Amino acid sequence: MTPQEKRINLLIEILKIPTIAQNEGQVATVLANFLTDKTISATFVEYAPGRNNLIIDLNNPNGDKPTLALSGHLDVVATGDTTQWRHQPFSAEIDQDRIYGRGATDMKAGVAAMTMAAKELLTTDFHYPLRLIFTVGEEIDNYGARQLTKVGYLKPVRAMIIGEPTNHDIWFAHKGIIDFTAESIGKTAHGAMPQLGINAIQNLLDYYNQQQIELAPLLTQKDPDLGYTTANVTLIHGGEQINTIPGIAKLRGNIRTVASVPNEKIAAALQKAATHVNAKPNHQIKVRVDSTINAVKTDANQPFLKTLQAIVQAQGWSGVLVTGAPITDAAIFQEDHHFPFAIFGPGNNTAHQVDEYVTTSDYLTSIDIYKQLIVSYYQSN
Ligand SMILES: [Zn+2]
Repeated sequence: MTPQEKRINLLIEILKIPTIAQNEGQVATVLANFLTDKTISATFVEYAPGRNNLIIDLNNPNGDKPTLALSGHLDVVATGDTTQWRHQPFSAEIDQDRIYGRGATDMKAGVAAMTMAAKELLTTDFHYPLRLIFTVGEEIDNYGARQLTKVGYLKPVRAMIIGEPTNHDIWFAHKGIIDFTAESIGKTAHGAMPQLGINAIQNLLDYYNQQQIELAPLLTQKDPDLGYTTANVTLIHGGEQINTIPGIAKLRGNIRTVASVPNEKIAAALQKAATHVNAKPNHQIKVRVDSTINAVKTDANQPFLKTLQAIVQAQGWSGVLVTGAPITDAAIFQEDHHFPFAIFGPGNNTAHQVDEYVTTSDYLTSIDIYKQLIVSYYQSN
């Protein structure tokens, strides 16, 4: 088998394992076995049965030396209607320069490239520590990253690459998120006798309007890198029957936050709106924050990013420093530990789409970039 075939085979093997919020442990086992070597220690951190996060340390048997880390997630999003796919999502078909499959771009190519970079460095005189951090459940609520951060696996990390697909650019920041639910509790009554009930939908609309007022000043504060916070109500449900006054109604909202407006301020505004509305007669609104992740930003001028940029551009790629849109595990890892990070990996904008693919050249080049970055990092630190 040629070195190139070896590289491609690893990606194909993990693409065939369907990890839609399950089975990440199978991928973790493949990667750990692939890297088996006396200088390696692999730790499986179970989130749920069949769902292991994976930590691999090179040249760092106790895992306590300060280290560069490469990180990615092992899960993928659902396939949607598979009849819409020309290349079945878990058959990892190669067609000319494209490798197809759910996760090809987001982000098994990144995970395989990181593993491959480590594997190939083992055949050189590379003797510095390197930690690979592979997580479960990133696509749901980053719960693998939350678990690993809590247990302390980020403590020795001094710099990090997250291998999400960045289409030849480098992300140095991305927005955060708040998902929230507002529930209005009223009282059902016959539609002909509304005075006997409390209309939960009407009260929920009062809350919606007040929430818009409370959020307004926060939505106009511009972050120099990430722009504006955006707030959208994305789900609404209320009432049961056309001739019954609704006794319950709720809405859910999705807010994309920026670094200059902390999530706590947004959450406080949502609560303040409820308090305001609840002061009116017969209003009972409960607000709950379901998930909160702060925006993350790293200094675009720090040497780690500049080094990566030079290596990426030497490959003829754009290597432009930009801000990303989706949430990544970087935001979780950065909550307790502040180290320079970059989000950079093979792949394109077919993430979460039908016929997701990565090009072979993107994948192969990214392995070379990761190897060079790892070596350069230790030459300058
Ligand atoms: Zn991803």
